[in-house]
Amino acid sequence: MSPASKRTVPILSIVAAIVDEYKFLSNWLEVEFQGWTLPAIAEPHCWCGIFVTKGCLKNELHKKLGKGNLIYIKQYQNSCNRAVCKVCYLKWIARQANSATRKIENYSKKTGRKPIHLILIANPKQRDLPVKLLRQRMSHILKIAEAECAAVVFHPFRFKEEKRLFYPWPHFHLVCFGSEQKIRKSFGKYGWFVKNEGERESVFQTFCYILSHCGVKKRHQAVTWFRKSLLVKSQDEKEPKITCCPVCGADFEEIYFDGEYDPVVPPDKPYEGLVDAEGWYPVNTIPEVTKSPNFEYSPYKELDDTLKGIALAN
Ligand SMILES: [Zn+2]
Ligand SMILES: [Zn+2]
Repeated sequence: MSPASKRTVPILSIVAAIVDEYKFLSNWLEVEFQGWTLPAIAEPHCWCGIFVTKGCLKNELHKKLGKGNLIYIKQYQNSCNRAVCKVCYLKWIARQANSATRKIENYSKKTGRKPIHLILIANPKQRDLPVKLLRQRMSHILKIAEAECAAVVFHPFRFKEEKRLFYPWPHFHLVCFGSEQKIRKSFGKYGWFVKNEGERESVFQTFCYILSHCGVKKRHQAVTWFRKSLLVKSQDEKEPKITCCPVCGADFEEIYFDGEYDPVVPPDKPYEGLVDAEGWYPVNTIPEVTKSPNFEYSPYKELDDTLKGIALAN
């Protein structure tokens, strides 16, 4: 497991529990504002969340290469990576949060400063403005406030506890660097309200929390950046995708386990690495039928025979 996926487990299960509860007890699925919705509202594709096991079964070759009687397997869950998907939204949150956290942490390391988590609530008179305009105003005020750089996540709704309803209340969550005082002063001048959300246990947790009920809209990024140019380009941004055997270089094929004992790798856990070769087989794809058998007339033929039989009996 990479460090990134290790730290995602507990917070993501908390997020999942919260989302499930709110979905059940509120208008989560229906609420909408200028085309923005909450995450996890759309039906998944039929393959979302399904585990696939691929690997290289060339254990003889691996033996010759000094790796022992082992095969290489890669087991993963299919994901559409859509925020709206009821199955894949958690993966989406994890990815987005990981990427944003890396950028924020790199900047923090470079400057020795700590990020702050603020909420910027739009001026009540401007709440019906197009989100694009609100965003422009917000960026403009951030410039006046001399904010250094910020991750921005738009939230279209607020939750009313007594009624258990989400209702339109546009605001922005910021994980940013800069002077809180200056930001407060500048936004106050324009009738916006600033709230300090304080620190969570980690930047990653903060992002997971913010993204769990953020605004989602097609062709719109959930996390945008103010003064992105100040951020260090992180090298580990794109994890290299392993699509062929790292031992012998052969292409992966779909495989399955049919051994005497339970497989070392449970069928519903992501895994990647070498395992004992015993009990693993390739999934044989059914050979393509060159000429499809002609079933078309058989039911009629049967019916004809039956009718004939009846006629004869009469
Ligand atoms: Zn999906
Ligand atoms: Zn191999």
